[in-house]
Amino acid sequence: MKLTINSCLPSECSPLPDFNNLEFGKHYTDHMFTMAYSPQKGWHSPTIAPYENFSLSPATLVLHYAQEIFEGLKAYTRVDGTVGLFRPRDNFIRMNNSARRMNMPEFDVEVAYEALQQLLKLDKRWVPPQEGASLYIRPTMIATDAVIGLKPSTSYLFYIIMSPVGPYFKIGEKGLNIFVEETYVRAVRGGIGEAKAGANYAASLLAATEAKKKGFADALWLDGVERRYVEEVGTMNIFFAYGEKVVTPKLNGSLLPGITRRSIIELLKSWGETVAEESIDIQTLLTDIDAGKCTECFGSGTAAVISPVGSLHYKGIDHPISGETIGPVSQKIYKALTDIQYGKAPDALGWTSTI
Ligand SMILES: *Cc1c(COP(=O)(O)O)cnc(C)c1O
Repeated sequence: MKLTINSCLPSECSPLPDFNNLEFGKHYTDHMFTMAYSPQKGWHSPTIAPYENFSLSPATLVLHYAQEIFEGLKAYTRVDGTVGLFRPRDNFIRMNNSARRMNMPEFDVEVAYEALQQLLKLDKRWVPPQEGASLYIRPTMIATDAVIGLKPSTSYLFYIIMSPVGPYFKIGEKGLNIFVEETYVRAVRGGIGEAKAGANYAASLLAATEAKKKGFADALWLDGVERRYVEEVGTMNIFFAYGEKVVTPKLNGSLLPGITRRSIIELLKSWGETVAEESIDIQTLLTDIDAGKCTECFGSGTAAVISPVGSLHYKGIDHPISGETIGPVSQKIYKALTDIQYGKAPDALGWTSTI
C-alpha cells in the first residue's frame, strides 16, 4: 500500500500556538493521516494531507451507535533535540484489540506506524521543545456507513490527528481529592471496559460531573458487580504503595490495560521491586490507608504519566493518604518514566523510537 503525501505549502501552514500556554486538545497540527476501509478493498488509500473537517452524512453509523475506538500517545522533544515516541506499536496493537471487541476491522500495525513516522516528520515543528510538554497523538477509527439500520458498519475510516499539549504534573502540588463512586459504574466484565472506546467515556461523564460538583477532582470506579473492588480512577489506571511494595488492580476484563500501567510494572520489576496485580477490596484498602500502611496512591496514563491521589472519599468520610503529600514512590516512578521519554536516561527496556 503506497502512502500518498499532500503537504501544505509553507504559506498555507498555520502559525504555531504559544507553547508555554497550551490548552489540551485545542490546536491541531498542519496535517492528518487518513485510511479508508471497504469490504471490497480492505484498508486502502493511506493518505497524509492538510488537516481539514470531514463531511459526513447525519446518518453515519458512528454518530448513532458509537462504533468508535481511539488511542492516545505522545511524541517528545528529547534533551538532545531529537523527537521520540514511547512504545508506539503497543498503542496500535491495543487499538486492534479494541477493534476486535467493537466488531471493527483490524489494520496492519506497521502501516499505521510508518504513517505516524511520516506525519511526525512533516509536522515536527509542532512538537513543543520544552520538557514536560509534548505532541499528543490521537489515532481514531470510526464506522462510516450512512445507514441507520443497526448492524456493524461495512466501511470505516482510520485517522490520526495531533495536538501540542503542556505539562500536567507540577512538583509540589497536592494530590487529587477523589470521590469513590458507589452509584454509577464505568464498565463490567464482558462489556467494553477493556476496549479504548469513546462509549466508555460517554458512560463515565455523569459520575465525573457529579464528583466535581461535590468538590472532588474525579471519581474512583469500583467493580460493576459488587461495587467492592477498585478498578480505575477517572480515565487512569490506579496504583497503591505500601512502603516500597506496589499494588495495582489485576486486569479482569473490565479495566483498560494501560501502557503506562504496564510500563510501571515492568520498570519496578526491572529494579527488583515487588509489584502485585490483585483484587483490591475498597474497605480493606481504606483500613490500610487509615492505619498508615498504604502510604501512596496514584493514577497512571499517557496524558499525566502519573497523577498523585491525596485522599479518597467513601460513604461520607475522607481518607487522606499520608498527609496528602506526593510520596517518594510516585516521584521516583514519574522521574524514571519521564527521563526515558525525554532522553535524559538510558532506555534500558527498549521502549522508545526516534523519528
Ligand atoms: C487510555 C486509558 C488509560 C491509560 O492508558 P495508557 O495506555 O497508560 O495511556 C486508563 N484507563 C482508561 C479508561 C483509558 O481509557
